[in-house]
Amino acid sequence: MSANQNVVTVDADGNITAQEPGTTTITATLTDTFGNVKTYVHDFTVDLADSSALPSYTTADEVTQILTSTTIQQLLAANGLTYSDLAPFSGKQFTSTTIYYSFNDSLLDLTTSDGQTFTEDQLVAMASDQWNKALASVGSSIVFLPADDEHTANLVFGQKDDSEIPGYAGMTYTNYNLDTMIINDPVNIVLNIDAVNSHYSETAMINVLVHEMGHALGLGHINDNTNVMWYAAADNTLLTVQDSISVLLNYELPSGTTSEATIGVNDYTPTQLAVV
Ligand SMILES: [Zn+2]
Repeated sequence: MSANQNVVTVDADGNITAQEPGTTTITATLTDTFGNVKTYVHDFTVDLADSSALPSYTTADEVTQILTSTTIQQLLAANGLTYSDLAPFSGKQFTSTTIYYSFNDSLLDLTTSDGQTFTEDQLVAMASDQWNKALASVGSSIVFLPADDEHTANLVFGQKDDSEIPGYAGMTYTNYNLDTMIINDPVNIVLNIDAVNSHYSETAMINVLVHEMGHALGLGHINDNTNVMWYAAADNTLLTVQDSISVLLNYELPSGTTSEATIGVNDYTPTQLAVV
């Protein structure tokens, strides 16, 4: 007998057949020739053959669950993608789908490698516009907006120098609850002014911000050097539908049930500095 027929079925001859990922208990009852009855109980877990290729998460009671979603599967199919094309994600989530951003005081203006000057606000506005369009294109309700009198910021942009974050063009600091993965305080994104100022093109500066905003949305690094979530800053990396689908998937994690950092579908660990 199987306690959960959705996971495992048992036929009249005692053959067991896996049905879907999950756990169940198999109970076997034997009667010997003297009429003694013995019962054996065994826990069974059914995993997919290649579960590493699918996103999974760990619940608060330490059970690994495969994360599947009809919406995501349709989006992947429509874009000729599979789960293995997606960026890994951490499960960290903002509590609100509107992410209000503000700026630290006294930020320096940033000069690009070809001599144009921008405020950090201007660059962030362009990076936000990229994310807002990308997220809307996959039906996400997440949107970045400037904070105002009625809305305090849950994302704050600032600057650091090379003595503080050596070798990094940008950095994201996220304070979150380890049990629920809910982000507590404003996320902080900083640009390394020594690294970017007068060295980076306008596109590369915006790409650093788009990349860091991806981290704020829960994404890790993707193993694809044409993607904006590649670990190194570049002029020619792009925010793609892979990234927005990855964010959608991150936000489909049941809120409050993840107990640890979760998913590495296409994880990539940098082996060099000059990362973002
Ligand atoms: Zn990064």
